[in-house]
Amino acid sequence: AAARSRARWDGTGATADGHRVRLLANIGSAADAQAGIEAGAEGAGLFRTEFCFLDAATEPDVEAQRESYAAVLRPFAGRPVVVRTLDAGADKPIPFLGVDGEPNPALGVRGLRIAFDRPELLDRQLAAIVAAASDTGAQVSVMAPMVATAGEAAWFAERARAAGVERVGVMVETPAAALCADQVLAAVDFVSIGTNDLAQYTTAADRMIGALATLNDPWQPALLRLVAGLGRAGRESGKPVGVCGEAAADPLLAGVLAGLGVTSLSMTAAALAAVGASLAEHPLADWQAAAQQALSAPGPAQARQRAAAVLGG
Ligand code: PEP
Ligand code: MG
Repeated sequence: AAARSRARWDGTGATADGHRVRLLANIGSAADAQAGIEAGAEGAGLFRTEFCFLDAATEPDVEAQRESYAAVLRPFAGRPVVVRTLDAGADKPIPFLGVDGEPNPALGVRGLRIAFDRPELLDRQLAAIVAAASDTGAQVSVMAPMVATAGEAAWFAERARAAGVERVGVMVETPAAALCADQVLAAVDFVSIGTNDLAQYTTAADRMIGALATLNDPWQPALLRLVAGLGRAGRESGKPVGVCGEAAADPLLAGVLAGLGVTSLSMTAAALAAVGASLAEHPLADWQAAAQQALSAPGPAQARQRAAAVLGG
């Protein structure tokens, strides 16, 4: 391990043989954005817009939203930023979007589902995002959270394009969307895998319950198999497949995800240097071999051990 830790990150995400994997920051505030730039992020792969709303008792109007988003986008002028539309509900309650009385909020009307009943809310947010993009010069794409079907992805893409968004994607956070990766990719320009939610829905284990942490471990082979299918669909369609969940911040897992065909990794700024250095330690073929071992392991601990063993660790 001592010898391998010599690899350093030069600010460009790539395997030892030069296979590019964009390393991006997860952001929710101007301070996060600044931290991402300082840590060397090439862009932002997840801007969680609900952090601009957490204290709002009523929906901010388009101008107020525009200003909030612009403050976060500004440090990324000239760089790509993926803005996620509101992901209210379950672990991210927002006062003015209350959906009360659901017995299982994580399985309820959350994320994009709120927009099916209230599309004008989404349209106002999209208008504010497009305006903030032009205010700041950030290269903005937009994606929706909690998508379950290709039809939902197409519905979102149509609305986003009508609002003037040029590059539209969706998050893959449900097993349904992962299993229909080819159809979902056909409806959009890119996908980004939210491994936090995808893990909880794959193993039916609430991500908020610490006692279920092993089931929510992103090394779970079932989760990795869904990622492998998404990587394959990405290669076949020629469209990007990113990861923006916590999995991307694990230096060993980040390389394994690249080996499964993931094209970008978005994470908390603090993880960028270690992930960049780890990715650069091995060529893509070795990461692919490590990924194959992880896929066939019986559980998350063994998946990690087997991947590390392939890489000589
Ligand atoms: C995820 O679910 O992996 C994700 C990135 O979104 P959030 O953590 O905001 O639900
Ligand atoms: Mg999520």
